[in-house]
Amino acid sequence: MPERLFVCTPSKLAAYADCPRRYRYSYVDRPAPPRGGPWAHNSLGASVHNALRGWYALPPGKRHPQALPTLLKGTWVGEGYRDDDQERTAFRRALEWLETYVGTLDPADEPLGVERVVAVKTSVLAFNGRADRIDSRPGPDGPELVIVDYKTGRAGQDRDDARGSQALALYAYAAERVFRRPCRRVELHHLPTGTVVGHDHTEDSLARQLHRAEATARDIVEAERAVTDGADPDEAFPTSPGSLCTWCDYRRVCPAGAEAPAVEPWAAVDRVLLPVIPPADPDPVTDAD
Ligand code: SF4
Repeated sequence: MPERLFVCTPSKLAAYADCPRRYRYSYVDRPAPPRGGPWAHNSLGASVHNALRGWYALPPGKRHPQALPTLLKGTWVGEGYRDDDQERTAFRRALEWLETYVGTLDPADEPLGVERVVAVKTSVLAFNGRADRIDSRPGPDGPELVIVDYKTGRAGQDRDDARGSQALALYAYAAERVFRRPCRRVELHHLPTGTVVGHDHTEDSLARQLHRAEATARDIVEAERAVTDGADPDEAFPTSPGSLCTWCDYRRVCPAGAEAPAVEPWAAVDRVLLPVIPPADPDPVTDAD
C-alpha cells in the first residue's frame, strides 16, 4: 500500500516544530485536553484581519477610510480583554492602524486572493493553508504573485522574519502551482508600525523550506505510529519547555507548562497599546536567498 499523504496546514507543522507535546494535545489526544481561555491579542489580530477582508469585499469605489469603523465594528472579536475600557482602547488603536494602512493601498487594486486557500501535494504532504492576501504585480516577464501576511503584534518584523517564515514559503510554493504563475516574493505587513518587510525566494530556498516541512511531517507520522504500536505517548511527543509555554493554550494541563510564568489573557494587548518602536530597518528592500 502507498503511504498516506500527511494532511497539514502551516499551524499544524509549526505546533510540532515548536513543541511535540503541544501538537499531541491539539491534534492527537481525543478528547482533546481543555484549552485555556481566549487571548485578547488573538482577538485583536482576528478583528484587524476581518476588517481587511471586508475592505476588499467592497466594490473599489466604496473602499474609503470612512468605511473602516463599520467594517471593524461588524466583525470585532471582543474576547479576552481585561475590561470594556481596554477593549475600547484596542478598538481605537486598531482603527488608527487600519486607516494608516489603507492609505497606502490603491483602492482600485484587486488582489488575486483575499484569505485565499491554496493547496498542493508532494510525495509526503497534502498541504493547504489560507494566505491573508495574494497580490498579482507586474514582473520583468509578466505578472508575478506576492504572498502578503498581516501582522499586529507589538514587535516589528525584520527581513529575517520574512525570509525564515516556513508558512509564507509554503504559501508561495503552493500559489505558484495553483495559479501557474511565478510566486517568489513574500511580505510581512506590520500594521502597528506601518512597515513592510519582504524577501524574494528562489526555487532552491522554497525547496529547502518544503523539505523541512516534509521532514517535520515524517517525524510526526513516526511519533503517531509509535503510539499506535504501544509507545508511551509522553515519550513519543516530549515537552519542549521554553518561553512559548507562557502563551500556550495547554499550559494548565501540561506538566512543563506549570513551571512557566502565568500571564493574564490581556497582557500582550497591554503591551501592544504602548507606543510602538519601529524596527531599525523597516524598508522593503530584499535580500535574495
Ligand atoms: S506548556 Fe510548553 S511544554 Fe507544555 S505543551 Fe505548551 S509549549 Fe509544550
